[in-house]
Order: sequence, then C-alpha cells, then structure tokens
Amino acid sequence: MRKYNTLKEYLKQKYGESVVKICIDGGFTCPNRDGRSGYGGCIFCGERGAGEHIDASQSIYEQVRSYLEAQKIRPTANKFIVYFQNFTNTYDSVTSLKKKYDAALIDDRIVVLSVGTRPDCIDKEIVELLASYKDRCDVWVELGLQTANDNTASLINRGYTGDYFTRAVELLNLYGIDVIAHMIIGLPNETLDDIKQTVAFLNRHKLAGVKIHSLYVMEGTQLAVMYRNGEFTPITEKEYVDWAVYAITHLSPEFVIHRVTGDCPPGLLVAPEWNKQKSRIIQTIDKILDENNWHQGIFWEKTI
Ligand code: SF4
Repeated sequence: MRKYNTLKEYLKQKYGESVVKICIDGGFTCPNRDGRSGYGGCIFCGERGAGEHIDASQSIYEQVRSYLEAQKIRPTANKFIVYFQNFTNTYDSVTSLKKKYDAALIDDRIVVLSVGTRPDCIDKEIVELLASYKDRCDVWVELGLQTANDNTASLINRGYTGDYFTRAVELLNLYGIDVIAHMIIGLPNETLDDIKQTVAFLNRHKLAGVKIHSLYVMEGTQLAVMYRNGEFTPITEKEYVDWAVYAITHLSPEFVIHRVTGDCPPGLLVAPEWNKQKSRIIQTIDKILDENNWHQGIFWEKTI
C-alpha cells in the first residue's frame, strides 16, 4: 500500500474498477510555438508536444475506436479516460473544440474527458463548453504549471506568469471541473527552496491532483542544446528522490498524485541516464516514506 493517494487507487474507488487512459493527439498546436504567447515552445518540449507514442495519422475518432477495438482482443479495462495530450488542447475556437471532444466521446464506457492545456488558454466560453460534458462524464483539465518561480518560468520559456494559473484554476473551480497541475523537479537553476515554493503555491489552490515530473533532456529540444553547451546540468537521482519525497510529504493530503516521475519516449533520452530507472525511483521514494513513517501531506500544514 502506497503512502500517497495514487491515481490507480483513486480510479478504482471512484469507478469501482480499473480505468485506463486513451491518449489522443487532437491535432492542436501551442500558442507558445506559433507566436501568440511565444516562439520555440518550452525548452523541454519535443516536436510532438508530448504524446510521442500516439499515431497522429488517425483522426480523433479512429484513435479512440482503434483503442477500443484492441480491447476486444486483449482487454485491460472496461472503463476509460480520453486524454487529449499533445500540445494545447483548448487552443482553438469553441466550435472546433466541441467537434474534437465530441469525436472522442463515442462510447458510454468513457468516464472521463481529460484535457491538457495552458492557463492562458482557459476562458469562460471554453470552461462552459467543458462543463457541458459533465452530464456525460467527469471532466478534468491538466494545467502545466511546472514551477511557481516566475524567473524559472521565463528561463524555460513557459510564456505566462503564475497569476494566469491562479485565474484559470479559480474559473475551473467555479464550474466544478477537476484541475490537475503538473510540476517539474529539476528545472534549470532550481533548488529545494524552489520546490518548497511550488508545493506551497499548489497547496493554495483547489486542485484535484498533481503530476510530479522529473526533468529529462529529450533529443530535439532547446534543453538538449543547453545540455550539450554545458548550460544545463541535470540534478542527481538522489536529489530527485529527496525532492519528490519533500513534495509528497508537503502536498495537501486531499490531492491525488497522478505520477511521481517522468518517462522520456524510447530512444529520445539525452540525459540523465537515471531517468530510465522509473521502478527504482518509485521504490526508493516508497522506501524513504516507509522508513520514516511518512505519508502524503504529513507536513502539509507547515506550508500554509
Ligand atoms: S505549453 Fe506545453 S505544448 Fe506548449 S511548448 Fe510548453 S510544454 Fe510544449
């Protein structure tokens, strides 16, 4: 039994059985690439804007349908989350967004519509559209905060300040939409103090969950250029584990922790090598929590 609220356990409790994610490439782009917010994108972001494993040659409908067809042959679950993963999945007109979300919600066994996006691409009209799906399924919005430090945000070319995040969360809260925030451990120049600030910042928001990612250097990114130029050195595995334990023990006990590390797509990892050791990282985190008799949120009150 894990010492933190895992997504797997949360889904089992809420839906009575295992629920698996169908990751979708909805054919979006990102305002941080096309010039609306910036150019070049976040320094760690790859050419596909995440979801590198998804077959983007298929339509949204085909992506969901082929996944569900494969389930008939080799079933892994009977309930599903459709997760719009690549790029910024609210960056379009409301009419086009509706078409895209409708194209994915093709089966009653889909229990969650989950949309990954940026806080500066959330407004009232979009939130109203998302809320309109709540009579069919649960609706989640995943926001890539990464850090509460606006200097780091500028360094990684995130393209918005922390107050955008606060405004987006408050608007989504108003409409009863679950918000999952992404944070990254190991960003350039960040120390444990920055992790403390980010954790405290997250605790000040009404969130349903947090995804904790490790920063890895992926081929084809600006971060890879910085790494090769000697402008960026990844943190060590020990630092990662210690800082992730800090985050888990200080994040609100109410949050669901969707992940505690990050996966680089196969064949694209430049550094650090330890990032490949996902199981070892998770086991070490568990061991530290067990040995100290710590659990999620044990020190939460110290951050508020
Ligand atoms: S906001 Fe997301 S999709 Fe856009 S550049 Fe940053 S990480 Fe990539």
